[in-house]
Amino acid sequence: RCPGRLLELKGNIRVLCRLRPGTPSSLVSLEPGPGGTVTTCYRGHQRRFRLDWVFPPHASQEEVFRELESAVLSCLGGYSVCIFTYGQTGTGKTYSMEGPPEDPGIAPRALQSLFREMGTGGQHRVTLSMVEIYNEAVRDLLAPGPPQRLAVRQGPAGQGGIQVAGLTHWEVPNLESLHQMLSLGRGNRATAATVMNQHSSRSHALVTLTLRTASPLRGPATSGTLHLVDLAGSERAWKAGAASTSWEDRDGPQRLREARTINRSLLALGGVMTALRARRPHVPFRDSQLTRLLQPALGPGATAVLLLQISTRPEDLGETVCSLKFAERVG
Ligand code: ADP
Ligand code: MG
Repeated sequence: RCPGRLLELKGNIRVLCRLRPGTPSSLVSLEPGPGGTVTTCYRGHQRRFRLDWVFPPHASQEEVFRELESAVLSCLGGYSVCIFTYGQTGTGKTYSMEGPPEDPGIAPRALQSLFREMGTGGQHRVTLSMVEIYNEAVRDLLAPGPPQRLAVRQGPAGQGGIQVAGLTHWEVPNLESLHQMLSLGRGNRATAATVMNQHSSRSHALVTLTLRTASPLRGPATSGTLHLVDLAGSERAWKAGAASTSWEDRDGPQRLREARTINRSLLALGGVMTALRARRPHVPFRDSQLTRLLQPALGPGATAVLLLQISTRPEDLGETVCSLKFAERVG
């Protein structure tokens, strides 16, 4: 029932790597499978990166989802799961997350798998919310009317977590209405991008599904969450941030200059994941809107999966190495 291999890896950050199909290149070579590697040859330096899972070239959407399905289904047991697609613009983040209608990606497959598993017993209540984060502004993609900017606040003292004032949560009774809501959200995202003359490649799209047991017949009530995050293209963050020495290097004029150009949420995500992995007492969730929103989902016992998308094109090699370094740091 749960063919994926991630189930026993709860409470961890896993990094999977998928190649954008293209001309094979001697500059990027793969050793696919669990604990697979990607070897790059950049400016005469050869570097080998080990990841939790490397998909073979031309891996299908189904193959990718198979590795994620058990993590997705663990939400029904009350767990929190975050799935991110990370990488340079054009490497297939949206293709992997959404996919074309004829070859659906992670999000539609995850929803289908969850609803199939829940069956028709009406045991679970499912709610959906969807936001976009652009330039640290959070917009509700499911509110009636034009997308509204939302305020993200720290929750009441002692209760932890955050509050997003006015965020729309829709209760979705079945798969069909879920798909309708998602395409509404996608449409709103596209409209907002046009109106503000932005590129969707510079914003994060965050779909959140909450699954609560409505009438627990067996055992205590549970509440699980699935976050599906199509991240902004990583290239800007890194081009601007390359001169900075580390994520901890927060002060000085350097940082001020960078702050204008870099994608703060993307950088903060790296900082949060690094801190979680190193089990540091302080995890800098407050550094960005994305990490604030995901704070409840990235706590102890949560599973985070980063699907790293890379390209084999020689002109992308610098970005490919940067993405792999990011993965090495957080994974
Ligand atoms: P990103 O979201 O990272 O900017 P996209 O998902 O938009 O990248 O992908 C860029 C282009 O490459 C799109 O035309 C997409 O259809 C295509 N593409 C990406 N990955 C694949 C894949 N695995 N198989 C077929 N086409 C792909
Ligand atoms: Mg995209």
